[in-house]
Amino acid sequence: MSKGIVVVGAGFSGAVIARQLAEAGLCVTVTESRDHVGGNCHTSRDAHSGILLHNHGPHIFHTGDRQVWDYVNRFAVFQPYRHAVRTTVAENVYSLPVNLQTINQFFGTAMRSDEARDFIASQSIDIPNPTNFEEAALASIGPALYEAFFRGYTLKQWGCPPTDIPAAVFRRLPLRFNYDDSYFDHPYIGMPENGYTALIETVLDHPLIHLHLNQHMSKADLASYDHAFWTGPLDGFFEHQFGRLGYRSLRFDEFRERGDWLGCAVMNFGDEAVPYTRITEHKHLAPWERHDASVLYAETAIDCGPNDVPYYPTRRLDQRDLLVRYVEAAEATIKKTFVGRLGTYRYIDMDVTIREAMDTAAAYLSAKSDGTRPPVFSVHPL
Ligand code: UDP
Repeated sequence: MSKGIVVVGAGFSGAVIARQLAEAGLCVTVTESRDHVGGNCHTSRDAHSGILLHNHGPHIFHTGDRQVWDYVNRFAVFQPYRHAVRTTVAENVYSLPVNLQTINQFFGTAMRSDEARDFIASQSIDIPNPTNFEEAALASIGPALYEAFFRGYTLKQWGCPPTDIPAAVFRRLPLRFNYDDSYFDHPYIGMPENGYTALIETVLDHPLIHLHLNQHMSKADLASYDHAFWTGPLDGFFEHQFGRLGYRSLRFDEFRERGDWLGCAVMNFGDEAVPYTRITEHKHLAPWERHDASVLYAETAIDCGPNDVPYYPTRRLDQRDLLVRYVEAAEATIKKTFVGRLGTYRYIDMDVTIREAMDTAAAYLSAKSDGTRPPVFSVHPL
């Protein structure tokens, strides 16, 4: 007997797909291998201080997509939040992304906007079609800023030379010729008042959704369902039969202080000699709360072994053939859709994840009513 629809994984992708299908009248089983929902956006209250912890590193909700913003606001109260990041390099603290303050402080100048624009243009290297992170950086900001703010951090973050990383990763950060120090350019930015796990619990709170925590699902377990949405790692679905796709994992070293220790929510560390990439002071991610205590995480990127949590698909240029094999294997499956950051092996933010999950649910419903094949991927990985 068919068991209906199953969604594997209760992060943003899985929760939004389940909700959209349930609201269309379908019965959905959601399984989650962890003992909580939220995936790598999971937040929890620290038992001693009550501080809201971003257990898998800082997550700031930001989007330019009005529908996505309205969607998340259905399920949680969002508090206004402004994300400003600093970076420590050679015992100086700078604003990040690189803005006019960063440029003037770094070069010991007092340039106006147009002067700085010309100056940076004179520093940049003429690379017509940058193919990797390093080329994109050199073409945009030139060697001095690249060496100081990006090379060391990127080596630590990705564990390989920046020439092996896609150029798109560099382009995540804007370059500004003004004093705007906001980390994101998006018009809608905020934080769910009670954290992401509470938000995702509310998304999943629907009479047609049946959630099962602590349940591992394998490919074989999915055979008896009408359709399965897989939000885990793409290669994990195939039990790594062709080898392991590269992911970076993270190690969080927690320490406790009192008062305001860091002075901001996130401090990056650009120097290669400092082993961690950034420190997060969690209470500053919820500035509407007051706490004397403070909980901080020093975050170190590590290679993702079989027992580590995958966070970042590395998409190393030399792993493309392996990715192609998994994509072809996925395309040969039936009644499966691969979704989200891990399911499509793409470095996407929360808002994009939600948009793609909404669109995937809609595509599934229309394929079902037309009698056509639902999409294999929410967005094609290649
Ligand atoms: N990056 C860097 N120096 C920094 C911050 C970021 O070199 O101080 C690079 C690094 O390669 C990183 C990428 O820019 O992976 C994107 O940064 P973002 O802050 O978007 O990363 P996330 O918060 O998703 O880890």
